[in-house]
Amino acid sequence: MTSSRPTRAQTRDRHRLEWLCEREDAQTVPCPDCHAPSGSTCTHPTGQPLVRAPAHPGRIRARRAASPPPEQRSHA
Ligand SMILES: [Zn+2]
Repeated sequence: MTSSRPTRAQTRDRHRLEWLCEREDAQTVPCPDCHAPSGSTCTHPTGQPLVRAPAHPGRIRARRAASPPPEQRSHA
């Protein structure tokens, strides 16, 4: 039996990879929220690194503003 649907494990792996890419991408710019320098992971005010979110939303926005993805460039 052939199926093109990904297994649950494949979906989870893909999601984790996208999450890691998002974090790596966000960390190319400094964070305006927690002031983490580029290359460093965002931290909570307690000093604990973010574990659920790849980075603070403001940092992800700052990264996208610095270099918009090609597919979104023609929309503006
Ligand atoms: Zn941050």
